[in-house]
Amino acid sequence: MKIICIGRNYAEHIEELSNERPLDPVIFMKPDSAVLPKEQDFYIPDFSEEIHHEIEVLVKINKVGKHIDERFVHKYYDEIGLGIDFTARDLQSKLKGKGLPWEKAKAFDGSAVIAGWISKNEFKNLNDLNFRLQINGETVQDGNTSLMLWKIDELIAYISTFFTLKKGDIIFTGTPAGVGKVKSNDYLEGFLEKKRMFSLNVK
Ligand code: ZN
Repeated sequence: MKIICIGRNYAEHIEELSNERPLDPVIFMKPDSAVLPKEQDFYIPDFSEEIHHEIEVLVKINKVGKHIDERFVHKYYDEIGLGIDFTARDLQSKLKGKGLPWEKAKAFDGSAVIAGWISKNEFKNLNDLNFRLQINGETVQDGNTSLMLWKIDELIAYISTFFTLKKGDIIFTGTPAGVGKVKSNDYLEGFLEKKRMFSLNVK
């Protein structure tokens, strides 16, 4: 199983990090060892002073596909989830500054929170999904998939021109504005539409 993540897919988030708007989707990956085991707390790693939360809508691939035409992408996934792309922002800024790969900042153990698979048929329109992250009861990120620069089907078609997608692969579709630091003892809750998809303690 591989995890394919999209960066810079929401205009307001690009602005808050003073990044350039990309001409094509920004893609990076996390290994399967990045998945935070279910019901486990998230431990802030020693190598970072600035771990950021990025709440993201997830898509699970259900069969092998390569060079998938956008019109047929919908046949390649059935389930939608919600997750967090934990990012060591201090380390990522250093790596970005030197033009180096982001993996140490993005793909470390526990950096991928994956939760709550729901059949896509339960939603009227996948391009109009509300999702949000609460920390200690307060909403810190509040997004809607209509604000994506590239929509789910466009992303998957694009990804599949570079990487063969396999059953069980997971796509992180990018984070909306409002990213920020987590600290120990924070209590995080993720919501997709009205459903609470996960809760998580930071240690
Ligand atoms: Zn992200």
